[in-house]
Amino acid sequence: MTSYGYIGLGTMGSAMAENLIGTGAAVTVYDLDADAVASAVGQGATSAASPAEVAAASDVVSVCVPAAEHIEAVMTGPGGIVEGKHDGLHIVIHSTVHPDTMTSARDTAAEWGVPLFDACVAGGADNARAGTQLVLAGGVDDMPPVVADLIDIYARTVVSAGPVGAGAAMKIAFNLMTYAQFAAAATSHDLLLSAGGNPKELLAAWKDAGQLGVLTEQFSGMLDIPAEHITGGFRSMLETQVGISQKDLSLAQSLGQSRQGTDAFIQTIHDAMPAIYGVSPKQENNS
Ligand code: NAD
Repeated sequence: MTSYGYIGLGTMGSAMAENLIGTGAAVTVYDLDADAVASAVGQGATSAASPAEVAAASDVVSVCVPAAEHIEAVMTGPGGIVEGKHDGLHIVIHSTVHPDTMTSARDTAAEWGVPLFDACVAGGADNARAGTQLVLAGGVDDMPPVVADLIDIYARTVVSAGPVGAGAAMKIAFNLMTYAQFAAAATSHDLLLSAGGNPKELLAAWKDAGQLGVLTEQFSGMLDIPAEHITGGFRSMLETQVGISQKDLSLAQSLGQSRQGTDAFIQTIHDAMPAIYGVSPKQENNS
């Protein structure tokens, strides 16, 4: 039976790990946050003291930490996967990061004789918990069954985006489309409201026309929440979301080139996100 590892038990990682543990598989986990580890252990996982210990116990290790510097720490930092590498180990990175981060990690792991793939995830924590995510994957044609089988546990749909790094590139473009919809929905909401119209009817009309996606509908539902009600855990969740949007839209700016004016468009959405959500981005403290 395949032994799995999971590193990075935040919003997405904890939900994906919960789904994996629920299959009855052996799952060894690690996170800097002891509470996140304790929660996964409570569901049936085994805790490890470092990424190296996770790697040593696993055939396939999933990594879902926030950004490039965290991937580097997990791979080659003190107690990193490098110290637990072995024949038969595979690594799958689920973080939304630049494609260059994925190819650099792939090259590092290749020096150890360890195959590494990108399998970026979309659909949020609920779909992660249910194993019904959209997975945008790189290197699918080269994936051994032990990796493809794991991704099937996570996914409702797997998109084969191209070579390693292509999953990350597609995820960044995918997220830009999502944030552009959020920005358009918020702007239209406010414009219509200030013109004396009813934004709820606008949303219903947009839905009737078949142009309203599920995520944008959920997001639009938050636009009428009074500022004084944005407190506590709800506020914290929004701050995290805004922080992720800033990261993702900065990644979009460095992804490639498009026709004239595109850079300004991404920058405008990037800068508008805190005002659109009504909160400032949470500062990363989990490096
Ligand atoms: P999060 O901040 O909720 O969780 C990140 C976790 O990584 C934390 O538990 C943190 O302690 C841990 N971590 C950080 N550095 C670590 C290290 N060196 N070793 C071990 N653990 C470490 O973030 P998230 O929302 O789960 O997002 C993770 C990644 O997935 C990001 O790249 C994000 O863009 C992407 N993503 C998020 C969502 C979402 O809806 N939240 C959806 C799809 C993809």
